[in-house]
Amino acid sequence: MKKFDVVVVGAGPAGYVAALRCAQLGLSTAVADKWIGKDGQPSLGGTCLNVGCIPSKALLESSEHYEAAAHKLENHGIKIKGLSVDIPAMIERKDKVVHTLTQGIQFLFKKNKITWLRGHARLQPGGRSITVTPHETGVPPEMVEADHIILATGSASRELPNVPVDGDLVVDSSGALEFREVPSKLVIIGAGVIGLELGSVWKRLGAEVVVLEAMDTFLPMVDELVASEALKEFGRQGLDIRMSTRVLSAKTGKRKVTVNYQDAKGDHVLECDKLIVAVGRKPNTDGLNATESGLLLDERGFVHVDDFCRTNLPNVYAIGDIVRGPALAHKGQEEGVMVAERIHGQEMRINYEAIPWVIYTAPEIAWVGKTERQLKQAARIYKTGVFPLSASGRAKAMDETAGLVKVISDAQTDRILGVHMMGPSASELIMEAVVAMEFAASTEDIQRIVHAHPSISEAFHEAALAVDKRALHI
Ligand code: FAD
Ligand code: NAD
Repeated sequence: MKKFDVVVVGAGPAGYVAALRCAQLGLSTAVADKWIGKDGQPSLGGTCLNVGCIPSKALLESSEHYEAAAHKLENHGIKIKGLSVDIPAMIERKDKVVHTLTQGIQFLFKKNKITWLRGHARLQPGGRSITVTPHETGVPPEMVEADHIILATGSASRELPNVPVDGDLVVDSSGALEFREVPSKLVIIGAGVIGLELGSVWKRLGAEVVVLEAMDTFLPMVDELVASEALKEFGRQGLDIRMSTRVLSAKTGKRKVTVNYQDAKGDHVLECDKLIVAVGRKPNTDGLNATESGLLLDERGFVHVDDFCRTNLPNVYAIGDIVRGPALAHKGQEEGVMVAERIHGQEMRINYEAIPWVIYTAPEIAWVGKTERQLKQAARIYKTGVFPLSASGRAKAMDETAGLVKVISDAQTDRILGVHMMGPSASELIMEAVVAMEFAASTEDIQRIVHAHPSISEAFHEAALAVDKRALHI
């Protein structure tokens, strides 16, 4: 029987990073993964690299270029005649990006002498070993022993009753990355992160997009001011977002889908060419053999863990999308590093208060720390400062003035409690706020830092000044 210091189950961002860090620390490491890529071959990188973060960002980037060429460059005096879009070529470029990066993980595994066990893994009772069933039919499962097991099996798209996903007309997020042509009419169920990102892609490429959202609050995890500005901006861009709607069913015909939904005004029927179901994700704990192995799950199927990602079984850890907290690649990666270092005997912890979020729409939405809504619920006393990008010289020069930066700080200590923004490159800009929060900065610290002019980062400086009513350019 094969034996390792550490066996990781799942080679998504949480699992492969955990394995890399274990190997760096001198632990003999194996990773079991069952992913089969588009080319029919086993592929590393999990959801994030194969059908998540990377391919969606590749298409967001391509569609932004098209949008700029079709609608924005004219404002800069650049005129383009005969513009067209080649969707298969766009998809092929996305596939190449995915292929390069997933091959990159294979290279890193080889470089770090990590053993790749291809197949479906199940935890065995007591949590000291796993079985791996290879993809090939007829090949018996292999038992693999380990001193430590790290579970990182990730998540999958949640489905809705009465809305069967057929992978053709009705798709999940993975299918929405594979359309061969622009649908004339696209309906998306769920105005969450995936609905908005993929809705933006296909809207920019020419689809008429309707988004049906069950809740009455748009992006409830986002600061209220940013969310209301974003809703207006997406409306201006032509995304038809219908709040407080309840999808009853979807039926597929030969080439069309009929969606039945309800809102306060009554029952409605929508016909579309493609329907995307983007209503959240569920943890991949079904096939893990959790009950038989004694692994404790919570009522929603997530693996129960403490602050250090320890499960109820000794020497078994769980990280990434299968445990509590945001389903974000970078959160899972950091948990992978933490668990590897703790197995190695180091003291490492994660500051879950300073994990950035980004929604890669245009403009991008990004935040870290608390929203006003959360602070009110906790009865905290705070101050806020807001700076609109319409007052930023750089944003004006870029012709990208939609958006704002908002800083929230403790009313007594001035310590920054949250930073919320919408604007160009917010995904990069948010990192200044993350560093500030990691170092327990006050708004005065930010006020006293020299920011380059002209830059979008000046808006963060101005928002920090605005907390004390001393913003200079509004
Ligand atoms: P996963 O990436 O899901 O990987 C789990 C791996 O475990 C898979 O390879 C799976 O095959 C394997 N596995 C499962 N069960 C078994 C088993 N029993 N045996 C063997 N192997 C098994 N997050 C961001 O931070 N930024 C983004 O921009 C972003 N964009 C996204 C866009 C889309 C369309 C989607 C769907 C998600 C996006 N996410 C994004 C979320 C991100 O992809 C996840 O948070 C991240 O992939 C979770 O990492 P993980 O390692 O926990 O799991
Ligand atoms: P989500 O939780 O962000 O949004 C799902 C939305 O669907 C919610 O607004 C919810 O109210 C709505 N909904 C649920 N049931 C519904 C129904 N029956 N009818 C209509 N609406 C319904 O989930 P998602 O967009 O599927 O994304 C899943 C997760 O993947 C995200 O929460 C995030 O953690 C991760 N992700 C991150 C990024 C990023 O970091 N940029 C990008 C994509 C995905």
